[in-house]
Amino acid sequence: DLLLTVFTIGGALLTGAAVCTACHRIRRTVFDLQQQLHALAYQDTLTGLPNRRAFMEGLDDTRAPCFFLMIDIDNFKQINDALGHAVGDMVLIEVGKVLRATSQRHHFARLGGEEFAVAACLPDSAAAGQLAQTIVDAVHSIQMHDLHLSVSIGLAERDAEEAAASWMRRADAALYAAKTGGKNRYAMADPVLRMA
Ligand code: GH3
Ligand code: MG
Ligand code: MG
Repeated sequence: DLLLTVFTIGGALLTGAAVCTACHRIRRTVFDLQQQLHALAYQDTLTGLPNRRAFMEGLDDTRAPCFFLMIDIDNFKQINDALGHAVGDMVLIEVGKVLRATSQRHHFARLGGEEFAVAACLPDSAAAGQLAQTIVDAVHSIQMHDLHLSVSIGLAERDAEEAAASWMRRADAALYAAKTGGKNRYAMADPVLRMA
């Protein structure tokens, strides 16, 4: 009888341990799958940067004063055409590294194509201008295939209560100004027009 009891208890303990291990493995697998799903949904596969979705969701957390930097690589099509898509991809990765190095404290993303964005909550437009210039200079100093890389940046301060779409549109208009002004530079957006 004693032997039977010992065997029964031992067996129950072993079964319990096996079930615990299996549960732990399943939890681990579910966790890994969740991580992979999150990466698929929120990360740009080429650069590893947050993607547009991650960026747009992060915009809601920003507190004024906040600045939008719309960043676009200059003459990127020429790079692709002259040196091939693979080199173009390497350029995108290098620009991604610049954003990681310069904008770690802020929200940043690859929005798509050769467009990137930073949302930086900084005390004033001088500080935001400094960040934009740092990014322009850092990209310009990338050494790759004898390329003269550059970006243009449109900078816009978020107006009180301004919708994200309007804020981005003004940054985009400023980007256009930076392009027409000669590229390899940043331009500041006009403030929001107010009715008298
Ligand atoms: P601008 O100086 O006015 O910005 O001109 P641009 O040549 O940079 O801009 P344009 O819009 O004419 O070309 C963008 C190119 O980016 C075209 C497209 O093939 C390329 N592109 C978009 N996504 C990718 C990508 O993931 N990898 C590579 N290699 N090229 C890409
Ligand atoms: Mg573009
Ligand atoms: Mg471009």
